[in-house]
Amino acid sequence: MPTEPDTQYDSSLGSKFIFVTGGVMSGLGKGITAASTGRLLKNAGFDVTAVKIDPYLNVDAGTMNPYQHGEVYVLKDGGEVDLDLGNYERFLGIDMHSDHNITTGKTYQHVIENERAGDYLGKTVQIIPHITDDIKRRIREAAEGSDVCLVEVGGTVGDIEGMPYLEALRQFAHEEPEENVLFVHVTLVPYSKNGEQKTKPTQHSVKEVRSIGLQPDVIVGRSDDKLDPETKEKIALFCDIETDAVFSNPDVEDVYHVPLVVEEEGLDEYVLEHFEIADDALPATERTREWRDVVTTEKTDTATIALVGKYDLEDAYMSIHESLKHAGFELGAEVDVKWVFADDLADGHDGQLEGVDGIIVPGGFGMRGTEGKIEAVRYARENDVAFLGLCLGFQMAVIEYARNVLGLEGAHSAEMDEDTPHPVIDILPEQYEVENMGGTMRLGEHTTVIEPETLAYDLYEDTSCQERHRHRYEVNPEYFEQFDDEQLRFSGTAGNRMEILELEDHPYFLGTQYHPEYSSRPGEPSPPFVGLLEAALTRTADTDAAIDDETDEHEVTH
Ligand code: GLN
Repeated sequence: MPTEPDTQYDSSLGSKFIFVTGGVMSGLGKGITAASTGRLLKNAGFDVTAVKIDPYLNVDAGTMNPYQHGEVYVLKDGGEVDLDLGNYERFLGIDMHSDHNITTGKTYQHVIENERAGDYLGKTVQIIPHITDDIKRRIREAAEGSDVCLVEVGGTVGDIEGMPYLEALRQFAHEEPEENVLFVHVTLVPYSKNGEQKTKPTQHSVKEVRSIGLQPDVIVGRSDDKLDPETKEKIALFCDIETDAVFSNPDVEDVYHVPLVVEEEGLDEYVLEHFEIADDALPATERTREWRDVVTTEKTDTATIALVGKYDLEDAYMSIHESLKHAGFELGAEVDVKWVFADDLADGHDGQLEGVDGIIVPGGFGMRGTEGKIEAVRYARENDVAFLGLCLGFQMAVIEYARNVLGLEGAHSAEMDEDTPHPVIDILPEQYEVENMGGTMRLGEHTTVIEPETLAYDLYEDTSCQERHRHRYEVNPEYFEQFDDEQLRFSGTAGNRMEILELEDHPYFLGTQYHPEYSSRPGEPSPPFVGLLEAALTRTADTDAAIDDETDEHEVTH
């Protein structure tokens, strides 16, 4: 969002904290509920930030397979974090730091390092108070400078891994004035066979929360539809809270509509009252409506974009899906993402790509699916289909061109084939000696210099861009000269590194060594995605015109 209202609240008075826990089952969307509440507080003029707690033992999400928790999201500072931080960045329009993702790995690593250094002066080092103190310190530090800090505890209340965090939150609340902390518990409200909303799972999970010494101030019920007034009353009675502290969060067609639903329910007003900052908030009439305007843009067009990847799981490519939506808001278009399993495309089975308006080859690691991805690039190049290659997708485009245009037989990336006669993609020099896998890639935001009079320049309207990276391999400098031909052009570079490639004489063919999808926001869409969708929509229009022509011809002959 380009303009944000000024904060009226004096944050030197200390931050306010919203602690969000989940009950009944995971995957309820408590992150989206929290982020949506945060968005409304931001619209009301407050500086809002967030912390995501992941109670797993991994230090960060960087070493995890996307089938575990979805995509690894990359922050500006190079932090490889849980995808929920992506939601917070998109909903709150902020850039977060790695320390906004607290994991058990990070906490224990730090406490154990301190113990080895002798910092605990001979004491027994324990979960309480040493781990819980470290958790509280991390939350306070992450919240510094903001008016409101959302703290989401991953997983479900009752999980063993989550216990130290809930205990830390209990202590935290004990140390703060009551009006500085709000506990929100998000639960599932299922339906019985005869269509009745059932509150028993909520009652059980609140019982669990209370047994740990926490009392929710607010309960949000996730369900297909809004909660009936009777359901709210029942939850309030059994869970010992006011009826107007029970809120619905029904299914909506687009997650970006959740702030609108939450606003309608009055959750933001309730939070402001609880924090005793309602008077500091901008009056409702002065709050920004940009979010609403952006996410409710009328869609008058549709384009189908094929996403050629190897993980058959939407969350594994979440930021790409979101970036396409943002481009859709900008251009007033619906984007139909067609999932194409890369392995199916190897051996020339490109029928699945027929009729699509655009193709994305996303990032990835390892051999599986690469031949299919190369095939997708070939299809896009030869058939003038709009193409966007991201990180590995960029590298696949280089390989495809090397093999099929430059005639470098067997060209490949040294990552997939160490013995290739043409390692057109090779390991980054600074990676030669790297042994550890975690946090050691070329990570985070770096500047790319963009050549004027190129597609990249038209997209970014600038001679440079700042985008986030996550890779170990790059275009091999030994091949620069061979690539420098009439058709392919590296239009963005960072020193000796090739960052953007494009093809002349093609409606839209762009590859980026970086990941533009991590910085796309509703209202501030990523230029490469807008370019892709624009080109794809032109293609749809051309196809529609061709179909019209054909129909006309039929009409004449019959
Ligand atoms: N595997 C490739 C590399 O490490 C691409 C990485 C990616 O797509 N994020 O360079």
